Amino acid sequence: MIDEIIIATGNRHKVAEIKDILGDVNVKVIAMTDFPNYPRTVEDGKTLEENAAKKAKEAAAFFKKWSIADDTGLEVEYLNGAPGVFSARYAGDGCTYEDNNKKLLSALHGAPKDKRNAQFRCVIAISSPEGEVTFAEGRIFGIISENLAGDKGFGYDPIFFVPEQNKTFAQLDEKVKNTISHRAQALQKAKEIIKKLSEN
Ligand code: IMP
Repeated sequence: MIDEIIIATGNRHKVAEIKDILGDVNVKVIAMTDFPNYPRTVEDGKTLEENAAKKAKEAAAFFKKWSIADDTGLEVEYLNGAPGVFSARYAGDGCTYEDNNKKLLSALHGAPKDKRNAQFRCVIAISSPEGEVTFAEGRIFGIISENLAGDKGFGYDPIFFVPEQNKTFAQLDEKVKNTISHRAQALQKAKEIIKKLSEN
């Protein structure tokens, strides 16, 4: 039985998105951003699953509550899945989104369109207070474009071209992106899991 859950992220945008999606589930949602002294989890896992589980389990143990955490990566086929778990700091510690996009475009320099397949993969871990973890995953396929296009969104959005939409993520209306994205899909699955747990 689950009646409250803590969102294990320091990112206010994610907190808002998760709160919004869980709005109609009968569970009290607590944001970790309300606890500024909580020690940040060191994200040193080798996979998205490891990092998401680590964040969720540490928060669950600390607060003695159910918790939810996510980790996302951009996986490029031509680069054997890189930058993957290193997506945030692909161009080095303290790098900007722009640095990452530049580095990725040069890593794919000269690669033809059919070699530029990629996917965003979002892994959500839900941990019980005792540390038992369940995963939910969402992914979206795209092609890494040759040039930046669009000014919406964040991260790799300007170079992530979604064929069904004929636009990059950065050209897409935010509402549309937030319906089809890797994170939206993972959150919908997580919501179903939390709903079932709240009914047991
Ligand atoms: P996080 O695990 O959600 O913090 O994501 C790790 C990194 O992946 C971010 O720093 C971004 O560079 C990238 N990323 C995650 N989600 C998106 C997205 O929706 N669009 C573009 N980049 C993203």
